[in-house]
Amino acid sequence: MALKPLVAALLFGLSAQPATADDTIKLYTMDCGTIEASDMASFDSEGRFAGQSNTLAVPCYLIRHSKGDLLWDAGFNQAMVGNTPPAAGGFQASMRVKLTDQLADLGLAPADIEYISLSHWHPDHSGNAGLFATSTWVVHEAEREFMFSDAMKDANGDYAALVNAKTIQFTETHDLFGDGSAVIVPTPGHTTGHSILQLTLANAGTLLFSGDLYTHAEGRKVGAIPVFNVDKEQTIQSMALFEKLLKQYKARAIIEHEKADFDVLPKFPGYLD
Ligand SMILES: [Zn+2]
Repeated sequence: MALKPLVAALLFGLSAQPATADDTIKLYTMDCGTIEASDMASFDSEGRFAGQSNTLAVPCYLIRHSKGDLLWDAGFNQAMVGNTPPAAGGFQASMRVKLTDQLADLGLAPADIEYISLSHWHPDHSGNAGLFATSTWVVHEAEREFMFSDAMKDANGDYAALVNAKTIQFTETHDLFGDGSAVIVPTPGHTTGHSILQLTLANAGTLLFSGDLYTHAEGRKVGAIPVFNVDKEQTIQSMALFEKLLKQYKARAIIEHEKADFDVLPKFPGYLD
């Protein structure tokens, strides 16, 4: 009769879930801006989106875990709220609500957030990072090096305060809480230390946050590589890794700038768990 539990284990027990399913973890999706693109041409070096317009989401994500809160991506600088900048390069950026006001809805201030991590340094991902200088910054070593390199000394205003933050630097996959629930995976190419987040929730399962590895769902379908991209070969390898992880963990892809992916996540202050 010993076979019975074995068969049951084979049928039900060996799913591809990571080790954890901590039912206290919550994912909040916050609105950290919008980009109206009048021409998506620059999001594909082969020009396949030329002439197409699109509305791109700019999210910030708050992951609440018993071992601490993690802010994943910091959106546009919230000074933009009520102060919409002029369109530039075919892009109209705007921001409707401050990140700090959204955190306050949960009774939180930036100083309460234990960890901050950015998929990469671009201004639509690091705009409010400077508010989190008392958090521990979890950052790819190569990304941090570039962010404070001479090349960036006139352009790092939004995140400059992180220079003195406590840091956890990684070069390989980093399991933040040590339980497999929030795993940061290097996916270089878009920038030197671009990374994605693999998040596993008790009910919703595993989600893979793309950063800007892909810009939008259409771009993922064709493997579009933007004109502004540091290393094309690395990006192709990173896309292959993303697709492999999706299958391995039966995960759901969240393309961060894809408005459809933003819209189906619970509307803040609702959450996914
Ligand atoms: Zn972006």
